[in-house]
Amino acid sequence: MRVALFPGDGIGPEVIAEARLVLEALDLPSLEFEEGLVGGAAYKAMGHPLPQATLDIAERADAILFGAVGDPDCDRLERHLRPEQAILGLRRHLSFFANLRPAKLFPELADASALRPEVARQIDMVIVRELNGDVYFGEKGMRKTASGLREGYDVMAYNEDEVRRIARIGFETARARAGKLCSVDKANVLETSQLWRDVVIETAADYPDIELSHMYVDNAAMQLVRNPGQFDVIVTGNLFGDILSDQASMCAGSIGMLPSASLDVNQKGLYEPIHGSAPDIAGQGKANPLATILSAAMMLRYSLNQPEAADRIEGAVAKALASGARSPDLGGTLSTRAMGEAVRAVL
Ligand code: NAD
Repeated sequence: MRVALFPGDGIGPEVIAEARLVLEALDLPSLEFEEGLVGGAAYKAMGHPLPQATLDIAERADAILFGAVGDPDCDRLERHLRPEQAILGLRRHLSFFANLRPAKLFPELADASALRPEVARQIDMVIVRELNGDVYFGEKGMRKTASGLREGYDVMAYNEDEVRRIARIGFETARARAGKLCSVDKANVLETSQLWRDVVIETAADYPDIELSHMYVDNAAMQLVRNPGQFDVIVTGNLFGDILSDQASMCAGSIGMLPSASLDVNQKGLYEPIHGSAPDIAGQGKANPLATILSAAMMLRYSLNQPEAADRIEGAVAKALASGARSPDLGGTLSTRAMGEAVRAVL
């Protein structure tokens, strides 16, 4: 099991160091690490945010654990040299088309949610978002209307293969959880969504054990805050998923708690916390490493076929929180290292 570690910028190296120590504490045979430079760190050392040497490491690896990129020193560089291009380049280069974001509230953190604690406590879902298609990748441009008005346009399109492969990830994810899949679309007005719904229904024939439902995206946005406990797995397109996954994750508490995965067709994946490089707290030992530690658990579950090890990490995080471990973003005083140690002490 070869893991590429890409710490990146800002708090990235601090949180990746804790996740690596947690993975090492599991004492798994045949787990190997290879580190590479990405983002501003790579630009400063090698003149590019995603150098070939880093791509080579990514290609050799079974999975990638990514910290964060983003460096205020690089904000004035040409766009293709900016640190953020590293993550976009890795997704594109390795065809990571499925983004999985679990949103689960640890009961001890109910007060950190934007929702009332009794509603927030119900949240335990995964949002599966398509990453490579939709309105973000269709034909786009600026033109003039017949009457001379400026008009911007972006074409929304999905072909059936693109829908089928993400639908399969949705069904498989539901199968590994409570067996419920909700497909979110806007089939009442969009042709793209009608095709989406038809293909999801066709794909369901291969998953008779999964309970499939459909919901319009406007209703889904409302239900996520009204009754989030009804969702197990949501599968949706790039645009709707972009919005709903941010909404769901903030309902579930601090940005320092939330992991994510981006997968290719073979379940090779890139795992990262949803937060950025947090330059405002970088180098101060204030970053919460739990999102990255939980990303490492996802990596063990989805790419490295080690579900028991993933359970051990998630259980250790829950116990550390239950025993009162809190970094500043959770209202406590523990340093990044001390939070990592609290998890390792349970392991
Ligand atoms: P951010 O997520 O870095 O920070 C937002 C706020 O949350 C800050 O106040 C920060 O201190 C806090 N925060 C973030 N992670 C935390 C953690 N683990 N523990 C405690 N507090 C935490 O978002 P931003 O400030 O908008 O962006 C900073 C840089 O990160 C930018 O350059 C941006 O482009 C980049 N970025 C990168 C990624 C990525 O690498 N995938 C994602 C988002 C933003």
